[in-house]
Amino acid sequence: MMQVELHRHLDIALRPSTLFEFAQADGIVSSSTTLEQFKSDFILRTQMSDLSAVLDKFELYARVLKTPARIERMAFEGVEDCYHEGTNGAELRFSPSFMCQFSGLSWDLVLDATETGMRLALEAYPDIRAGLICIGSREQGLDQVTRTSEFFLKHQSRFIGFDLAGHETVPNRNFESAFKPLIAAGANITVHAGESTDATAVWESIELLGAKRIGHGIRAIDDTTLVKYLAEKKILLEVCPTSNWLTRAAPEWKDQPLKKFLDAGVPVSINTDDPSMFGLTLPHEFRVAREKLGISEAEINKCKEYAVQASFLDLRH
Ligand SMILES: [Zn+2]
Repeated sequence: MMQVELHRHLDIALRPSTLFEFAQADGIVSSSTTLEQFKSDFILRTQMSDLSAVLDKFELYARVLKTPARIERMAFEGVEDCYHEGTNGAELRFSPSFMCQFSGLSWDLVLDATETGMRLALEAYPDIRAGLICIGSREQGLDQVTRTSEFFLKHQSRFIGFDLAGHETVPNRNFESAFKPLIAAGANITVHAGESTDATAVWESIELLGAKRIGHGIRAIDDTTLVKYLAEKKILLEVCPTSNWLTRAAPEWKDQPLKKFLDAGVPVSINTDDPSMFGLTLPHEFRVAREKLGISEAEINKCKEYAVQASFLDLRH
C-alpha cells in the first residue's frame, strides 16, 4: 500500500534539532539551553487557545530560514524525514512571502535552494517522490497573494500545485481575482478552508477559487448538501487530526468528523500539517486515527488510497 502525504508545510517541518541549531547560532536561543529544554518549551503538546495562537508561533521558522544554505538543508531533511516515515510520495508546501518576510531573500533564490535540497534528497533516497506546492499567505493580503500567484505561474513547471493558507480572518472570496489566472492556467489548486471557519468558506474555495482539494475542511460536516457534493465530485479533504486538536478546530477527539466523512463517501486523507511544531510524524497520525478516532485498519488503507488518487504528484512511474 502506497503512502502519500498531501498536506505538510515544509517550512514548519524543519527538524526541531535543526531549528534549535539555527536559533542558537543566531542568538535567539541562549547558548546554555539544551536541545531537550528547547524541545520541551517549543513543541506544542497541549492545546492552544485557537488557530491564530498556533500560527503566531511560526515566526521563529521564518526568522532562522534566512540563507539559501539553510533553506536547502530544510528541503533535504524535509524529504529525508518523509522517507524515514515510510512515505512514498510527499507533497511539500511553503509560502515564499512567509519565508522571506524577515530575510528579504528573493523568492527565486528560495525556490532554487528548496529545489536543490529536494533534488539532493531524491538522489539519496530514490524510492520516494516529492513535489512542491506554492502557498499564498492570506494574512498578507490580496496584493501579496496576487504576487504569489504570478510567481507560481512564472515557475509553474517547478510546482505541482497552489494553496491559500494562513490566518482565516480574511474570507477566501476576497482572493478570487488572484485565483482566476491560476484556474485559467489549469493549476492544481488546494485551499485551506473550514478549519476555524465554516462550510461557506469551503463552498467559496470550490466555486470561486477552483479548489480540487480542501486543506482541513472539517466544518463541511455541518452542511449536508456540501457533504454530498464532496462525495459526488470526489473533492478530497486533507484532514490533520492532531493539528485540529491543538488549534481547537476540533477541541475534543469526538469533534473530529474524519470517520463521518468516510461513512458518507467523502474522500479524506490523513496528514501531519506542521510536524516540527507539533512534534509528530505521519505514522503517529495513523495511530491517532486508530486509537482516538476509532478508524479501522481497512479505513486507514482507504484514506491512503484516496490520497494516491487525489495526489498532484505523478505517481505512475
Ligand atoms: Zn496547513
